[in-house]
Amino acid sequence: MTSAYPPSKVLIVDDNVANIGMMADALSAEYDILVAKSAQEGLTQALHAQPDLILLDVVMPVTDGFALCRQLKSCEQTHKIPVIFVSALDTVKQQAKGFELGAVDYITKPVQIPILRARVQTHTRLYRQTVQLEALAATDPLTNLANRRKFEEAMSQEIERNQRENHALSLLIIDIDKFKDYNDRYGHGRGDDCLVAVARILSACARRGTDLVSRVGGEEFGIILSDTDADGAQSIAQAIRARLAAANIRHADSEHGYLTLSIGIATVDFAALAGGRPDSRMLVDCADNALYTAKNEGRNGVTLNHWP
Ligand code: GH3
Ligand code: MG
Ligand code: MG
Repeated sequence: MTSAYPPSKVLIVDDNVANIGMMADALSAEYDILVAKSAQEGLTQALHAQPDLILLDVVMPVTDGFALCRQLKSCEQTHKIPVIFVSALDTVKQQAKGFELGAVDYITKPVQIPILRARVQTHTRLYRQTVQLEALAATDPLTNLANRRKFEEAMSQEIERNQRENHALSLLIIDIDKFKDYNDRYGHGRGDDCLVAVARILSACARRGTDLVSRVGGEEFGIILSDTDADGAQSIAQAIRARLAAANIRHADSEHGYLTLSIGIATVDFAALAGGRPDSRMLVDCADNALYTAKNEGRNGVTLNHWP
């Protein structure tokens, strides 16, 4: 049976080449196998290759498997990757320690191939499902953008990160103009098509890896621009306006004749910030106030507020 998914990546960390060879042989027909002969190499591989499972020996020179597991579980980029210990240490106390450190399973040596295969299959499947569910829980189904839950989580993280790095952080709140009228005239289905079209334009204008475009409400979108000052945010906002104008989506109730949107920007420059840092709510309110001004000044415009 062929699977719809690419094979899961399994990283084997063991200082004994014969053990690696035996496990790799048992698994290589179904998985992409990566190997590391020390804990240090294992950490580097885990960070760069982002495997879907790690088979981890306990007794290794310099840094042992328990210590590596602790490192993996305390690192943002690796803490979710499931770890299975594979060890000749077989007392209850040793196995319990493995689970306490966050391992999902513990296989004792000598390794029984059918048991290894079964446990690797169970945990790679579970991990794939978890990753898929997490992605689903963070995604708006209509536009495929990040949803509000993801937006709020990212806001808190980006505020912390940009403050730590003394960067400027900008937030755009974008609201489609006279969208109720659009729905009333053209119907909800075509309204939905507009939301998808706007989402595409936003994604095309905010393309850096650290930019996060999200649908925060019905016809309202948010873009988090990390390490972006007021000028940078303004130019992205203007690019969005220009692209939507060029798309020329007919809207007979708009004074322009086509669909427009209004944008409120909040920018906080952490390098120049004297007082305490804002929380997510404060920055959203700041951008919302700017949006309110843009709406009052006739829509189809961009307004910027500096925080505080
Ligand atoms: P303004 O220019 O002041 O923003 O006016 P508006 O009509 O866009 O704002 P209002 O908040 O009065 O109406 C928003 C409308 O957005 C109401 C609703 O019909 C529409 N809307 C919200 N969510 C969706 C959706 O998922 N699909 C569609 N088609 N329309 C939606
Ligand atoms: Mg609205
Ligand atoms: Mg609106």
